[in-house]
Order: sequence, then C-alpha cells, then structure tokens
Amino acid sequence: MKIFGIFLDREKNTENGLTIALPTPERVAVPLPKDGTAEVRAGQWVLTGSRLCGGSLPAHASVSGKVEEIKEFDTDDGSFTAVVIKADENQKDAAVRVPRADDRESFINAVRESGCPAAEKISAAADADMLIVNGVESEQYVTSENRCMLDDGKLITAGIALISRLMGIEKTVIAVASDCEEAVDAMEKTAADAPKCEVVKVRPDHPAGADMVLVNNVAGRPIKANETAAEKKVMILLPSEVAFIASYFETGMPFIKRRVTVDGDLVKTPCVVEAPIGTPLKDLFAFADGNLLPAEKLVIGGLMTGRCVTDPELPLGKCDSAALIFMKPLESGGKGSLKVVGGQTNCIRCGRCAKACPAGLMPMRIEKAVKKRKRTELRRLRPDLCIGCGSCTYVCPAKRELKDAVDKAKTILDRKGGDEE
Ligand code: SF4
Ligand code: SF4
Repeated sequence: MKIFGIFLDREKNTENGLTIALPTPERVAVPLPKDGTAEVRAGQWVLTGSRLCGGSLPAHASVSGKVEEIKEFDTDDGSFTAVVIKADENQKDAAVRVPRADDRESFINAVRESGCPAAEKISAAADADMLIVNGVESEQYVTSENRCMLDDGKLITAGIALISRLMGIEKTVIAVASDCEEAVDAMEKTAADAPKCEVVKVRPDHPAGADMVLVNNVAGRPIKANETAAEKKVMILLPSEVAFIASYFETGMPFIKRRVTVDGDLVKTPCVVEAPIGTPLKDLFAFADGNLLPAEKLVIGGLMTGRCVTDPELPLGKCDSAALIFMKPLESGGKGSLKVVGGQTNCIRCGRCAKACPAGLMPMRIEKAVKKRKRTELRRLRPDLCIGCGSCTYVCPAKRELKDAVDKAKTILDRKGGDEE
C-alpha cells in the first residue's frame, strides 16, 4: 500500500534560475565534526581543499587564506566548533590526490575522506542491492537538488556507474516529483546512459522524499516506521551527493561547497547559489538582496523540516540546502509549520493530524500526553517513530504546534528517570 502525504503551497521561486557561484566570502567558518579536533592553528595559511580536521567526517578549507581563530558557535540545539579562515586574494587550491577504490571498503573510506555526508549513508547501506537517487524536493522554496539534476546530468550518470560497480548495486531508480518536468526530462537522459537505471515520477506531495516513503512507494518494499532503508537493502542518496562523488573521483577535490537556495519574503532576488561551506548566512542573504533588519525568522533548510536560527553570522553547513528569511512569522495551515503564531485554539478532534502522519502516529494524543507528562502513555504512542516531516502542524486547523510537541515527547522519553504520572 502506498503512503500518501499532503499537498503544500508550491513556492518554488528559484526553479527556473541558473546556479550562480557566490563570490569568495571575506571569511568562512568551517564547522568541524563533533569528534574532530582542529589540525590547524590560528595564524596558519591554508589552501582550498586542505584538511582542517579528521574525525568521523573530515572537514576541509573551503577557501584559501589565513586561519584567524578556532571558534565556538552557540545555537538553540547546542554548540559546535568551526575554523574561521580569512580568505586571501589569490584563492589557490591545495595539491589534492585523486582517490582510487576497487572494492566496497576502499570506496566507503574514500568517500569518508572527502568529507561528504553521503559516506555515512553508503556505509550503513553497504549490503544494498538498490540505489534510489532522491530528487524529490517536496518542501516549499527549496530547489537545490532540482538545479543539480538540470546542471549535473553527466556527473550523476558517472556517479551512478561508480557506485553501482563498487557497491554491487543491481538497480538504480531516480525519483523525481512529477511536477518538475524539466528535471524529469534531464534525468531520463541520465538514466539512458547509466547502468540498469530508470526514472520514476512520484506524486508531488509531502513528505514524498522521506526515506520511509521512498522505500515503500518507489522501491516497492513495505517498511515499518521503525525500520531503516538500509535494512530494506536500499541506499538513498541525493543527486548532489551522487554528482559530488563522481567529481571527487575525477578531481580529488573534497566536499567544500554546495548548492543552497536563498529565498523568503525578505529576499528581493531569490536564487540558488553555489557557496563555500562555512559561508556566513548573512553573506548569502546580502548576495540575494535580502533584508535582515525586519526579519523575524531565519530558517535553515525547508520550512517543514528545517531549523529556525536567530544568528545570521552562523555558517552554512554541509547539509544545509536552503537559507530562508521571513518578515512575519507564518501561520500553519497556510505556509510553513515552523512558524505557528498565536491564534491557537483547542483541539477539535478532527483527526487531520493523524491522517496526515506518514508514520501512523497520533500527534494530538502525543501533545496531550506531553502536557500531562504521562511517560507510560507516551511510550505507547511511539513518538520515536516520528520522521519530523511537520505535516501534522501544517494541517491542524487549531494551529497546535504538534511537531514541537512530538519532539518534546522524544526528549522526555530519552531522559532518564521514573514516570511523572
Ligand atoms: S489536527 Fe489539530 S484539531 Fe485536528 S485532531 Fe489534530 S490536533 Fe486536534
Ligand atoms: S508526528 Fe512526526 S511524522 Fe507524524 S506528521 Fe507529525 S512530524 Fe510528521
């Protein structure tokens, strides 16, 4: 049985524009992985692509220049360390080595060394027989993967061939939302040149690009909410990750830049830019003629699953597909689940949140149990199965902040301690 989602307002202002390379920022702050320690120190000169730290996923200099400091950044979700580099005028690349791989293990290690976040997914799905290239961007505003499919068809073909050969993939499916016609056409050309590959058009609802939904609807392998794609022998990668892997095996240049959609009602010139990792958000907004002064919300990622931040100095991370700014907090039931403002009323028990939930949860009951701190009840309601799609908040006519309540429920259950009932 297929899993269907909800239709969001289609706000894709940037889907017909080209990818623009962001001019080199004055300085970048390259985030380090939690288990990584900086291998550079303040005052040291680095070249583009040189390694800044090891750890589970190495980080590399995204510009050449002088390391100014190793700095801690605070966010609502905790803190992270970043290497701040002041860019020089000449912008020189490090002497990088083109990687070699002839089996699964050497391939996974090479991708990990590149610093690409895909390494974790490839490693987890090392036994997969199917690759899904996930070109479904169901969220409003975000068009970065759409742009990649239009720009990087040849790299995607080469990436699919490489991954299939080295990881023993028997079949590849490129999943694209049916309303992205240009991307469908581009990927059909890609699929024709790639081994055992086909394009599947999916219903453009949300969260059609979630792993669970893709495994169920595209791979045709029924999946429970507590199972992973890897357990179903499916590897899911983004088009940009597949394209990057191909380019890394051609040039040896590690993961130092990414496409990011810059949009929102305070952005005069919405665009998709290719920006160095660590570019301050304020530089992205300045480039797109964004006005930060009256902004109430900065969102990293899509409106439904992204995160709100308050500091425009925060740097672009490796997985950040969009940077959005809005003047007014948006209302749920209209645009965006992250911005419920006032006007909340009592639950009218319409059941829309439960109907919209792809994980089969009952968000209204979870919200109630959170309020009453009923741990036993919460355990039974399984908030841990939530995939964070935000659909429950979006559809609620009473404007309940259901996704937040489910997140809170997860935290309550994670905490040690007895029942608070
Ligand atoms: S959608 Fe909102 S009003 Fe309807 S049952 Fe869920 S919480 Fe209650
Ligand atoms: S409970 Fe989680 S999975 Fe279900 S609709 Fe809400 S955010 Fe999505």
